[in-house]
Parts: sequence; structure tokens; C-alpha cells
Amino acid sequence: MENHNTHFDDRFIEEVKNANDIVEIISKYVDLKRAGDSYKGLCPFHNEKTPSFMVSENKQIFKCFGCGEGGNVITFLMKKENISFFEAIKLLCENARIELPVNNISSEENLKNYEKKQRMYDLHIELARYYFDNMQKNIENSMDYLKNRGIDEKTVRKFGLGYEVRKSSAIEYLYNHGYTKQELLDSMIFRQKNDELYSIFFSRVMYPIFDYRNRVVAFGGRITGSGEPKYLNSPESIIFKKKEQLYGLNLVRKYNAKRIILVEGYMDVIRLNQKGIVGAVASLGTSLTKEQSEIIKKQNKKVYICYDSDKAGRVATVRAIDILQSVGVKPYIISLEGYKDPDEFFNKNKTSDFMVKIENAISPLSFLIDNIKSEYNINIYSQKLEFIDKASELIKSSNDAIEMEYQTKRLAEITNMSVKSIGVKVYGQYFSPKQFQLNQKSDEKIVKKVFPHIENSDTQTNEKKLIDIISKKPDCIRYIMDILNMDDITDDSFREHYSKFLGSNGADLEPKNEEYKILRKLALFTKIDILQKKLKKLEQSQNMDVEEISFMMEEKIKIIKLISNLKEDIKGLI
Ligand SMILES: [Zn+2]
Repeated sequence: MENHNTHFDDRFIEEVKNANDIVEIISKYVDLKRAGDSYKGLCPFHNEKTPSFMVSENKQIFKCFGCGEGGNVITFLMKKENISFFEAIKLLCENARIELPVNNISSEENLKNYEKKQRMYDLHIELARYYFDNMQKNIENSMDYLKNRGIDEKTVRKFGLGYEVRKSSAIEYLYNHGYTKQELLDSMIFRQKNDELYSIFFSRVMYPIFDYRNRVVAFGGRITGSGEPKYLNSPESIIFKKKEQLYGLNLVRKYNAKRIILVEGYMDVIRLNQKGIVGAVASLGTSLTKEQSEIIKKQNKKVYICYDSDKAGRVATVRAIDILQSVGVKPYIISLEGYKDPDEFFNKNKTSDFMVKIENAISPLSFLIDNIKSEYNINIYSQKLEFIDKASELIKSSNDAIEMEYQTKRLAEITNMSVKSIGVKVYGQYFSPKQFQLNQKSDEKIVKKVFPHIENSDTQTNEKKLIDIISKKPDCIRYIMDILNMDDITDDSFREHYSKFLGSNGADLEPKNEEYKILRKLALFTKIDILQKKLKKLEQSQNMDVEEISFMMEEKIKIIKLISNLKEDIKGLI
């Protein structure tokens, strides 16, 4: 086989590997779970039921302890996609938006560029170290500010916060570490005036800005005294593209956060992390960009927006909803009403209070309707009508049946109108609130007609009805096996009946007859009953810590989703 390796310079290959995260690439093929410092999953190269396939984020390699396969991100793609080295490099270049060298040979310019970037990363690390030491030396000046913002010593270390005193002090330091004047200028942190260099940062608390791979690519500075601007960020450089950068993303990945919480600034990110809430990210001095939204999407996590609750924050939220939805992410909106921002919220509240806010996050449509409502005084009749018109238009534009039903009921509640009149606005003049009902009662007649031997069906639970029918017509079990699991059933004799039929196939079923419909509906209702009991139990649990609360919420969300899916199934049978 031809050795494609020779076409590329080693350093170019190194750059391609650097620009692609192996965890992100393999996650497209394997469901990876965090395991200590590494990730674990079912091996894609051999058949296994317990995971022995490991991916190391630090080392950027994979290894299967079952079949022995192993390698880097390039060899993974070659094996998995059955493609050549060249094709794998091409895929990875596309993924990381790197230009493929002309004629597959690294040009002199490409090489220089790569070296320049590496030097720039090193310069930033050196500078971060310098600022950090400065902070420790000037702790009384800077710590005052930090204490006022509720930032503790531990957080200073975790985020590598530093301090810069004078316009010129860092220059000597960088020269002593071998960096040239041109390199200082290229960092965009230093400027030249009358042949003298000076730093754009001084008298500022310095926040290193990390990229998702944990490299320092820029700095943010917050002035400690009075002066403008309050916040200042590094200008863009060869390693810092603002619109592709999300502050805090490195920590989302490090802690494998369950969710991403979009906040306005880096102080919010720091505050949330200090409170033990992982997943916060902020765009830097710009509103959310399409590039950032795509990066958020790649993380494959539930997304929340938690911007400031003032007018500007609401406008930014509307824009963020728009841009996230345009790349296919449905965000939920956390409302901190009564508090300006997360910072102010935590002055008066605990971590668990914020978890409750997450739990109560609303859908984009709910937020947009509330946002419109804030422009009207709905106690005045004419304004109320205008609000209803605008909100109904919004609801109509949704293409999610459940969301539409929910919002119709919600709007009726907000405006103190009947579901009927709001429904007509949304669904048209033939709307009847009965469309929203599951119509359990009206089934009773049909149940009795199809299964005349069933007793007193009005007062029985759904499970009892099922048992009744099945004890007389055991064959019917096959209609509902895919809905109810053995574990779902509480009645012992029913479970015994049930187990006899498991494993037999339902190929000779004649679906779509009345019997089939009724049994499936009963089974679905039974399942909903069971899930609702579970939900109640979860809600009643007390004295939980943060971990447990977040686990409980994940469970709740899962169950609520399941229930709404089942309700959809029931509608399909009506
Ligand atoms: Zn394997």
C-alpha cells in the first residue's frame, strides 16, 4: 500500500491532531461515559456487552482492552470508516476548518504559521503565570475587589486569576523569557507608542481565557478602581477568534457537565462554578454567534439560557433563542426574576435554590410569550386583546402539537379567558376543548360492548380492568407486551399470567380492531398511572444534596417525557 504519510509534514499532522479532539470524534460513533480521567464505551471494533473501550482525553488516544485495537484520532477514523490516511486527514481538516495544504504538501508558510501559533500559546501561558504571581504579591489590592464579588482563594486558583499593575511590567518579563518584540505585538496585548511598548491591561484583575482544550488564548481584565472600560478583552489574534470562543467550555468538558448554561459574562461562569454548578459558559464581549451555537450543539447536552433579567438581557435571550434554534438546539430559559443576574441571586440564595430555577426553566415559546406580555398591561381590556392576538400568532407558528396544546391552556390561564376562546384563536373556529381530553370516560361504553363480562368498570383502576379482561381472554396479552414491562405490574397473579406469554411472538395479531385499541389504551393508561406514582414519590423525597437533586431532576424530566409520549400514543388510538 502506498504510504500517504509522506505527503504531509509531521508538524502538519500534529496540527491536525491538535485541532481535533479524539473524545469529540469518537463520540460520534460510540456512547462514551466519563470514567476517572478517561472515557469508556462499547468497543466499535468487536462485539461486547460490557465496555472495555477506553479513550484518553489527556493523551488523545484510544485503546480496547478486549480486542487490542488502539491508536490516535487518525487511525480511529481509518479503521472505523475504512478509509485511507489521506482521507482521514481530509475529514479531520474539514471538521476543524483547517485548510488542506496545496498538493498535499505542507507549504513553508503553513509550517511557519504552525510554529507561530505554538509560540503564541506558550507566550499566553507565561503571561498567565506572571499575572497569577502578581496577584499573590498584590493580594491586598486585588483581593479586596474579589472579596466584594464573593470570589474565594480556591476559585482564584481554579480559574488562574491574576493581576496586572502597570503598563510596562510584563514586557521585561516576557523579554527575559525569550519572546521578541514582534511576538509581543502579535499577541495584541501590547502596543507601540514612540518606539516604546505598553500593555493594554493595567490596574486590572486578569482572567485567562481558556479554549476548550484548556489552552490560554486570551485575557479579560476587570478594572479594580474607577475607570473605563470596566471590562476589557484581548483583541483577536492568530489564536483568539472571539466568535468561536466560549468561556468555561473547558470546564464543561473537564467535569462532563450534564447541561450547558449560557450566561452573560465570565463573572457569572465563575460564580456558578464556585457554587458547585458546572456547565456555565459565556460568549466574550459579543452576543451569541452562529459559530458558538454550533460548538454548543456539538457538546450534545441540554442547553439553558440564564441571561440578566433586565430589558437588555431579555433582548439578548430572544436573540440567543433564535440563533440556537437555527442550528437545531432547543434551549430552556432560566428566569431569575427579582434578581439582576446570577451574581445577585447568589448573594441571597443557595445552590439548591438555583437547582430549583433550573428545574423550572421554561420553553422558548413560554419565554417569548412572557416577553410580549411584559409590554402590555393586561388589566386593560384593549391591551389584553392585543396581547392575546400576538401570543396566539406565536403559538400557531409552533409545529409541536403538545407545545401548542400546553401554550393554549397556559395563555387561557394567564389572561383569565376560557380554553375554548383561546383555542379558537389558535386552531380556528371549529376548535373544541374536547380535542384536548383523553376521553377516558367515553370509552367505558365501548369497553362494555367489546368485553361484556367485565364488571363495574367505572370504578376500577386501569390495571384491574386489564387483569379482568386478560384473565378471561389470556391471548390478549400479546397486544400490550410492548407497552408494559414485567416490572411495571404490581399484581402478582397478573404478572404470572403475563410472564407465560413473554417470548411468544405476536406475528398473528390482527391489529386495528376494537379489542386491540381498547387493550392498548388501557395498557397505556396503566403505564401512565405507574409513572405518575413514581413521579410523586420523587417529588416527596427530602433532605437531598445537590447531586441527588440534580439526579432526581434528570429522572423527573425523563418520566415527564415518557408520559407525554404515551399520551401522544393514546391520541393516535382515538
Ligand atoms: Zn475491542
